[in-house]
Amino acid sequence: MVHAKGVRKHYGRLEVLRGIDLTVRRGSVCCLLGPSGSGKSTFLRCINHLERVDGGRLTVDGELVGYRRHGGKLHELREREVAERRRDIGMVFQRFNLFPHMTALENVIEAPVRVAGVARAHAREEARQLLERVGLADRAGHYPSQLSGGQQQRVAIARALAMKPKLMLFDEPTSALDPELVGDVLDVMRQLADDGMTMVVVTHEIGFAREVGDTAVFMDEGVIVEAGDPRQVLVDPEQERTRAFLSKVL
Ligand code: ATP
Ligand code: MG
Repeated sequence: MVHAKGVRKHYGRLEVLRGIDLTVRRGSVCCLLGPSGSGKSTFLRCINHLERVDGGRLTVDGELVGYRRHGGKLHELREREVAERRRDIGMVFQRFNLFPHMTALENVIEAPVRVAGVARAHAREEARQLLERVGLADRAGHYPSQLSGGQQQRVAIARALAMKPKLMLFDEPTSALDPELVGDVLDVMRQLADDGMTMVVVTHEIGFAREVGDTAVFMDEGVIVEAGDPRQVLVDPEQERTRAFLSKVL
């Protein structure tokens, strides 16, 4: 589903991604870990067309990110084409970016109705099912300010799912939450993984990465230091840098 080969990205003279090679198979869960500034969010943003890749090759579902092939040549995607591709990718951030003036249900139906042109009644029906799936059937009429951080984050997941994405990206979805609220959000993500969603998750929840992840990837300074079975990478890593990092987050 995601295939990166030698992906590079720099901001001015700062090289943030220095040759990332990574494959995320359809239906698998890839957990990304690494110190602050190692390039995790930048990599997710590249996958989601929010950043331009400066070198290497990055494909999502077989299509080169940022370009389309036409008559044997590569053309940069137009804004509308980028928007179309991005519909297939759901993203959840650390801070719940819900629309504050809309209820949970309105947040979930916003994109299907406005972007995908789904009929309102149908979108509402689907939104109710999604809210039920994230355990918030009884909160559909609540505004974000009336919900806990964990509930808001679950609405954000439901909202991303409303566009029926092929791929879900999570950028530290639980790190802004009070500890007692983390479990409910991880449970929803675990369920999503069990249902077969392809997921790339930046997280320092080692337990989640170990139990749910098919792959764990440790990044540092824009390179992948170590990747493989989470039960190996996160329990008995080969690299000293991975070991040092884990001893800090555990
Ligand atoms: P964290 O764990 O703190 O979220 P991260 O691994 O997600 O870190 P990134 O956000 O990808 O790291 O940032 C990698 C580096 O790129 C950092 O040094 C950051 O300051 C720099 N950076 C990120 N975005 C920009 C930008 N738009 N312009 C310039 N530098 C940037
Ligand atoms: Mg980040």
